Amino acid sequence: MPQVQRLLERPGAAPLIREFSHAAVAATLRAILDHIRATLRDAAAPEIPAPEAMLARAGEMLREARRPVLRRVVNATGILLHTNLGRAPLAPEAVAAAAEAGRGYSNLEFDLAAGARGSRMQGVEPLLRQLTGAEAALVLNNNAAAVLLALSGLAAGGEVIVSRGELVEIGGGFRIPDVIRQGGARLVEVGSTNKTRLADYRAAITPETRVLLKVHRSNFRILGFSAEASVAELATLARAHGLLVMEDLGSGTLADLRPLGHRHEPTVPECLVAGADLVAFSGDKLLGGPQAGVLVGRHAAIDPLRRHPLLRAMRLDKMTLAALEATLRLHRDAPQRLPVLRMLGQGEAELRARAERLAGLLAGAAEAIVVASEGHAGGGALPGEGVASQAVSLAVPGLAAEELARRLRLQQPAVIGRIAAGRLLLDMLAVSEDEVPEIAGAVRAAGEPA
Ligand SMILES: *Cc1c(COP(=O)(O)O)cnc(C)c1O
Repeated sequence: MPQVQRLLERPGAAPLIREFSHAAVAATLRAILDHIRATLRDAAAPEIPAPEAMLARAGEMLREARRPVLRRVVNATGILLHTNLGRAPLAPEAVAAAAEAGRGYSNLEFDLAAGARGSRMQGVEPLLRQLTGAEAALVLNNNAAAVLLALSGLAAGGEVIVSRGELVEIGGGFRIPDVIRQGGARLVEVGSTNKTRLADYRAAITPETRVLLKVHRSNFRILGFSAEASVAELATLARAHGLLVMEDLGSGTLADLRPLGHRHEPTVPECLVAGADLVAFSGDKLLGGPQAGVLVGRHAAIDPLRRHPLLRAMRLDKMTLAALEATLRLHRDAPQRLPVLRMLGQGEAELRARAERLAGLLAGAAEAIVVASEGHAGGGALPGEGVASQAVSLAVPGLAAEELARRLRLQQPAVIGRIAAGRLLLDMLAVSEDEVPEIAGAVRAAGEPA
């Protein structure tokens, strides 16, 4: 085994030392030698790598350690709002607004006209009122926080009535019964898994009742023999008893998705028109903005929450607020510029052309066939509905699909596909035109001998 000192004196070490410092190169070489020693102990026929190979490995490790851990990936999974991959890509206007807010000072909580302290909601609240028709609005860290704040502020010490068909678990530990308990309220379940009628809610109302809660079934559907009470019915019942109706809409689209060729998803304005006092939804699902939670509704429901200590604990930072404001402005002025809505509206011909372009760039490097594929909106939007898409079905001779997928994940940028019937599918639904040559480069590099 060579000594660290000997390795550091070799000509191959000099450029590394210049780039990364003597101490860093020495520490990395020490780690490599330790690793080799550990593997040699159990090896039948010990083989020590050449010194140049050790230096090359040190260079790779040092360069890798410099790269950010949180990095861009190409989403070829076919799921538009993939929570593991950061949900909605932002519009360029939102990215620019976030960068601008981060670069310097801003009037985050400062009223420029009055020269006095202002509200953090000054940018987003008027836009939310305009876009949804609500009297008032609040934004915070995410929709889970919005639901927790609303229940804590409006129902603590009292009862919240929810249908048994809507006691949803969203994933990542967010379960409606737990959130109600955490908010200090008691859950009163009514109805059955498949059928809940207005009379079930009416029968459950007591002097302790505060809120009638409806929850969007974001990740499942109940088909067949089923019934539920509408927001409008619940609103009439609530009015008669001095209660509030809240709807956790999950993805909370502002736009009607039918013109884009999809099933109807209840929109935020529709819920408010139907009579909901409060609607909660995410900023980074169909809204297409940064991670945030939005509460819109009547003054009676929103205003008591403005002074709640949880709001202070869950408030948005300036960069997210700037990106959210820019996203809302686009919903008002140019919704076609929002990547999520644009991607949801892609036609088959556009997707197929992209897949064919990628397959063409891969000629000679891989076996690439264009196939029809079924993508999904994800993020709790359009549950159970496939989104027609096109994919490149990929095979590289001598590489199992799992190994090809692994190597693509380690490229720069990483490319994430999905495996179906022993082949790797690269779905074009969430891939931009700019990313097509990047994917081709990544596949070529992944196919090279390791
Ligand atoms: C996604 C979702 C949430 C959680 O929203 P986050 O913004 O991820 O915190 C809560 N409720 C419903 C119905 C959802 O679909």
